[in-house]
Amino acid sequence: MNVLVINAGSSSLKYQLVHVENHAVIAKGICERVGSANAFHKHGIDENEVVIDAQMADHDAAMALVLDSLINSDDAPIKSLDEIDAIGHRIVQGGKYFDKSVLIDDDVIEKIDELAELAPLHNKAALMGIRACQKHMPNIPMVAVFDTSFFQTLPPKAYMYPLPYEYYEKYAIRKYGAHGTSHRYISERAAVVLDEPLEDLKLITCHLGNGCSMSAIDHGVAVDTSMGLTPLDGLMMGTRCGAIDPAIVPFLMEHENLTTSEVNDVMNKKSGLLGISGVSNDLRSVRDASEGGNERAQLAYDMYSNSVKKYIGAYIAVMGGVDAIVLTAGVGENCEKMRRMIFAGLQPLGIILDEEKNRQRGFEREISADNSAVKIIIIPTNEEYMIALDTFRIVEESEIDRDI
Ligand code: AMP
Repeated sequence: MNVLVINAGSSSLKYQLVHVENHAVIAKGICERVGSANAFHKHGIDENEVVIDAQMADHDAAMALVLDSLINSDDAPIKSLDEIDAIGHRIVQGGKYFDKSVLIDDDVIEKIDELAELAPLHNKAALMGIRACQKHMPNIPMVAVFDTSFFQTLPPKAYMYPLPYEYYEKYAIRKYGAHGTSHRYISERAAVVLDEPLEDLKLITCHLGNGCSMSAIDHGVAVDTSMGLTPLDGLMMGTRCGAIDPAIVPFLMEHENLTTSEVNDVMNKKSGLLGISGVSNDLRSVRDASEGGNERAQLAYDMYSNSVKKYIGAYIAVMGGVDAIVLTAGVGENCEKMRRMIFAGLQPLGIILDEEKNRQRGFEREISADNSAVKIIIIPTNEEYMIALDTFRIVEESEIDRDI
């Protein structure tokens, strides 16, 4: 089955065409700056990628370009849109309605719209992607895969905030988490690498990229996660501050004369690695600066690793132990220095990094020392494949139901 995976952002449209049974990406690309004069379209895999300046007034126009490149480009992977069997959409916020991926119908669309209050930019963008697909491919089944659904298993003691209860009742303010598709994928793959059933394992999963989140997964069930009502909570990130004393918000608004949207901007776009180092949100640049003697860059490195370390401790306590710590995303997969700093000093907890294995490159691999009670594993994340797989399973099931 060929599944078109769509990840629509407020001004972007990312896509992959995946042949599920072959585990193969047969086309991919992204339309960026959708709706602005300098929009462009990147299409192609690795060295075959081409970048084309293109006019796209909205997501509908971007989708038309994407579909055209799938059937008409020089290396077109398919001859007609009939070769697309299903479409999987990444949706950021599924609220309390969705604890798993679902076939998209009018009711699902209505709920995604209703939930836009909790993720305004993301859910509205996803709806634009869904509507564009409905217009261009009206008869192809579509599935919604939610970033939050993996965390619907959290118990109330983990998802509630100690605020007046009425705000939960009135506004559904609670922890929803994010990056759930990534945490689900890497926990499932970790069980395969460890050659043990997921249901027998206590895992701490760490998605460390520009956005960062960690989860405690107890016997296959997510019991806690670091992102909250929004993806701003938890770990220090590329440009997001993560958890800070909430009293800092009114303090800054008062002393810097900031509006709510300006203070939001500070916490989402000007903080984290960028805010502390003053160099970049990109860890590679921060690393180069720190190695060149930039003290603020070194401080940013120290703070980032310390923030991961604290969640490791917290989640060991939450689960009463851990069998494996799983790392993924740009930093988790690639930055040996950050991994060294995260795991330094954790020997008393039975967590020992193997320095040599940590230096090696590769795909899915274990990097803990032979005498480490807790395994440390790297799993490159693959959210698109997970979305394609969910779509495949749900569409197959619905076809079987229809046949019955
Ligand atoms: P992601 O959001 O998963 O794309 O991750 C982006 C982050 O990963 C950025 O901060 C990059 O600097 C970081 N990153 C990617 N490759 C490397 C690398 N080889 N060494 C250090 N950091 C890296």
